[in-house]
Amino acid sequence: MTSERFKIFDELQQGVQVIDPDFRYIYLNEVVATHAKSTVNDLVGYEMEEKFPGIQNTKLFEKIRDCMTHSREANLKNEFEFPDGSIGYFELRMERIKEGVIIFSYDATEMVLEQINSKREKTALESELQEKLEELELKNEELKQFSYITSHDLQEPLRTLRGYVDIIQRNYKDSFDDRGLKYLEFIMLSVDRMSDLINDLLEYSRLGNQREKEEVDLNELLQEVLHLLEAAIASSGAKITMDELPIVYCNKTHLTQLFQNLLSNAIKFKKDFQSPVVHISSERKDGYWIFCIEDNGIGIPEKHHHKIFKVFQRLHNRQKFEGTGIGLAHCAKIIEMNEGKIWVESEPGSGSRFYFTIPCTNGK
Ligand code: ADP
Repeated sequence: MTSERFKIFDELQQGVQVIDPDFRYIYLNEVVATHAKSTVNDLVGYEMEEKFPGIQNTKLFEKIRDCMTHSREANLKNEFEFPDGSIGYFELRMERIKEGVIIFSYDATEMVLEQINSKREKTALESELQEKLEELELKNEELKQFSYITSHDLQEPLRTLRGYVDIIQRNYKDSFDDRGLKYLEFIMLSVDRMSDLINDLLEYSRLGNQREKEEVDLNELLQEVLHLLEAAIASSGAKITMDELPIVYCNKTHLTQLFQNLLSNAIKFKKDFQSPVVHISSERKDGYWIFCIEDNGIGIPEKHHHKIFKVFQRLHNRQKFEGTGIGLAHCAKIIEMNEGKIWVESEPGSGSRFYFTIPCTNGK
């Protein structure tokens, strides 16, 4: 039954089959038999419907019929369900010939499955990313809420406390002995401290709202910072020197805050009976500006080098060195937002060198 003239397709890598007007296989090569999970002998001479029940209701069959009746050639991507329930994907081209319809086929199952899998993976990745983004937004929202609570709700009871202590100090002074009055003073100092902590925390959580960057001449910025620190410099007798500094692309408010925190620490954590000597230098390396603020102060043990960049971490008591312990956490957050790094090199008694980096942009 197999027409001799189709024998030339036997060796072809592509599937070839010929179907007669009764929808019977009159020729097919091994490739098609393999695609169909069958053998040539098992299919040739049989009607399509006999071998693949239900095929007459498929789009493929409709196309074959259309080609048979109207000589309409067609290209088709076909999803095919085998009798064992597995699915195959084929790219087909069919044409009308005098024996019926000839179909060339290419098994695209592997390629399509790969595409489906990588699409699935991509979708999974995208939805994971979306989830993380939503989580982050939620956290941001919580942080904003937290800022509001700290600024508003927590300051309110402190104001009330301050108000009552003030009334007691003014109107009931005579009911207290010296020790009682001292305790009232301690309460006031604690209230002020709590208020400072809340304000610092609030400022820290608001940092994320300022993101605009511009070209900033650090020589000018440092003059402003030194002006802000005038009182501390004068009272400590600090000597501050600096190299010629670069122009960098950054958020100006952030950098002002950063230098102010680092310099005020360099002045504050001085040795007894020794005036602070501070030097600011910069160096360009591997696409980054590296800045260093070096002091001759009390120094920091190595085991605390990481800890001090966290919120409220202090190594000294307040009686000796004033502060809330948030300054360096502020610096770390600023540097993170400006895509740099911050670290310290220091030993007790040998001063400290605080380093931070900022990416150089536009070759500057
Ligand atoms: P604060 O200055 O309010 O205490 P910071 O976050 O700025 O808080 O600093 C955290 C701690 O790191 C300080 O309490 C101090 O113990 C240590 N520290 C920071 N800068 C220096 C410095 N230049 N020299 C020595 N210790 C420092």
